[in-house]
Amino acid sequence: MIAPTDPPDARLLAARAVLRDVFGHDGFREGQEEVVDAVLESRDVLCVMPTGAGKSLCYQLPALVRGGLTLVVSPLIALMDDQVSSLKGRGVAAAAIHSAIDAASQEAALAAAARGELRLLYVAPERFRSTRFRDALASMDLDLVAVDEAHCISQWGHDFRPDYRRLGEALERLGHPQVLALTATATPDVQDDVVVQLGLREPARFVRGIVRDNLAFEVRHARTLDAKDEHVLDLVRAEAGATLIYAATRRNVESLYGLLKHHGLPALRYHAGLADDVRADVQRKFLEEGAPLLIATNAFGMGVDRPDIRQVIHYDMPRAVEAYVQESGRAGRDGKPARCVLLYRAADLHVQRFFIEAAHPSRAIIEDVWRVLVEEGERRIELTSEEIAERLHVKAPGQAVGAALAVLDRAEVVRRRARGEGRARVTVLPAPGDLFAVQQLPPGLGRLLAALIERHGIDREVTLDLEAFAERRGVTEETVRRGLGRLHQLGRVVYVPPFRGRATEVRGGEDALAHVDFGALDERRRHEEARLDEMVGYAHARGCRVLHLLACFRAEGEQRCGRCDRCVGANSPGGGDDAFDLANPRAAATVRTVLQAVRAFDARYGFRKLAGHLAGSDAAGVGDGPLAHGPTRGALRALGVKGAERWLQVCQDAGFLRLVPRRLAGGQRTVHLVAVGPRGIRVLKGHTATGTKGRLRIASVRVNPVAAGRVGKPAKIACDAL
Ligand code: ADP
Ligand code: MG
Repeated sequence: MIAPTDPPDARLLAARAVLRDVFGHDGFREGQEEVVDAVLESRDVLCVMPTGAGKSLCYQLPALVRGGLTLVVSPLIALMDDQVSSLKGRGVAAAAIHSAIDAASQEAALAAAARGELRLLYVAPERFRSTRFRDALASMDLDLVAVDEAHCISQWGHDFRPDYRRLGEALERLGHPQVLALTATATPDVQDDVVVQLGLREPARFVRGIVRDNLAFEVRHARTLDAKDEHVLDLVRAEAGATLIYAATRRNVESLYGLLKHHGLPALRYHAGLADDVRADVQRKFLEEGAPLLIATNAFGMGVDRPDIRQVIHYDMPRAVEAYVQESGRAGRDGKPARCVLLYRAADLHVQRFFIEAAHPSRAIIEDVWRVLVEEGERRIELTSEEIAERLHVKAPGQAVGAALAVLDRAEVVRRRARGEGRARVTVLPAPGDLFAVQQLPPGLGRLLAALIERHGIDREVTLDLEAFAERRGVTEETVRRGLGRLHQLGRVVYVPPFRGRATEVRGGEDALAHVDFGALDERRRHEEARLDEMVGYAHARGCRVLHLLACFRAEGEQRCGRCDRCVGANSPGGGDDAFDLANPRAAATVRTVLQAVRAFDARYGFRKLAGHLAGSDAAGVGDGPLAHGPTRGALRALGVKGAERWLQVCQDAGFLRLVPRRLAGGQRTVHLVAVGPRGIRVLKGHTATGTKGRLRIASVRVNPVAAGRVGKPAKIACDAL
């Protein structure tokens, strides 16, 4: 057994031995060893790695190396059971406690844990509701609490689970055992939320594998929809391997489907509007039969693991960088080169903004929806979102009404019923000589009508549970529905089919809206808007796309990827072809000057202002304040603001700079502030050190021919790692 005070080498040797002997793995996967080591050091740890990276090992291994008891909290019962049985198969004492485990086994597991016989105890988060369970925990000696799928604790995560919120409290009551939080969701907001909610103390953060290094990112700007279509056709024709195209709406999926078909490029399509069996079939054809082309909304993807997708094209802007990285990450799972192309049209932002607005209805819409419900004057209201939208005083789409109802539901002001819970209303119409009339009908219909008359009489409206009615008669519900429809047509009954939408039950009284947290709603909307802005920032990124993405996730990345459009120069603004050697002392000096300027104002300004400073501009915010001073002010005066900005871009493209996203006051917009990255710092240090050691070694810079001759307007840079 190994203690945190043992020397690191001993810890890792022990860990590697267990890795080999118990788990049968030859070595660690990327990132695992550092996490394991931090856990063995007894630190709180936040581990962000993509699905499939091998996060489980990061708590399983320390649990065995250290002995003691590790509590694993996981919301996924099937995964829990899998892990427990595979651990048992390796001779590890492990057990799970969740709703599908019988009471006796639960008791046995708790008792074994209390006696110190278990290494790993898996529990579902809802266990923490039970006082008995919490008491049982308090009597155990917990070495480590591993919180899997930790993003569930964050309200910014896509699957927030209220039960996770109890965890922080529970951990506190247990006297803060060591915690390892694991998730594949990496946005900084979620990371921060996890740290705060779980009360992690100075956690070691590991954010790994956000972007696989075989992916080449690219953004194609298009002014019109036609231009976007052209890009799609070009990209699809140029790629022999599998292509996945994401579109934001069903309509766009359908129209792309039509477009490709028209050009003799048959594709599959997938969206939530298709029947379940159709979708399953599409998924199967794409995954198993290897169909080359699929157009899908983001409904496609959960659990999809086709390794050989060669390109992922985003026809529409994703709503957040996180979604983009996840979806584009479906390319090249086999490790072979693949590309990820975002088609960007500024006008498309309206679609996304519309989605955000609809999902976060304003106070006015919510109040108006509430008014409509109250005015209906019934407890159970059978109106669709669209029907409610028509009665509103304010103008709002059906989606916004749906979202408003969801808000009211969460505040327990209304309760939304499930679809198809409604009942039919049937009135048998009086007809002369009823018995005779029944006999005139086809036998099935006749029997149906006779049954209705016998049970409910004539000329009286009754509500009918069709399912139960059908069951009593030994026929299917569909047969009853069709029969009633026919009888209605024949004028024998009045049949009002069950409400197909979701009924709404009014629960709150007069002051019900006081229960709605409008402030939180606003905050969520602004949050979504900021995430979208971040995506826009990506589309306009000046430097390496991958470094830009990593910065969005606060993940370290110090090498430009060398594969994205920015790195290879395809889309560098003003790209030129003449090679220009940056061994040229004047060029090298300019790079250093730029880096010195950035360093002096690290992470305080954006490109534009820094360029103004270097060019000695007198513009507002540059000619006054801190930027008006310093040794680098006006150092590139001869180049002008534009020229200075291009040199900043050279530095960015070379991976010398780091972009720091910063939410502006009010949270409306995210800007990127410029700082010197680790590579840039090495450039600065190399210069000030001996002058030879670690000297600036940049292979070549291509400059715009117009500017050749003087050091100006570099457009493209290719450089070796320093
Ligand atoms: P995650 O939780 O990150 O999605 P898992 O922990 O479920 O990933 O691991 C995914 C798979 O990777 C599992 O089948 C696991 O056995 C395997 N795996 C984990 N670590 C290693 C390793 N070091 N070498 C080989 N396979 C590994
Ligand atoms: Mg996992």
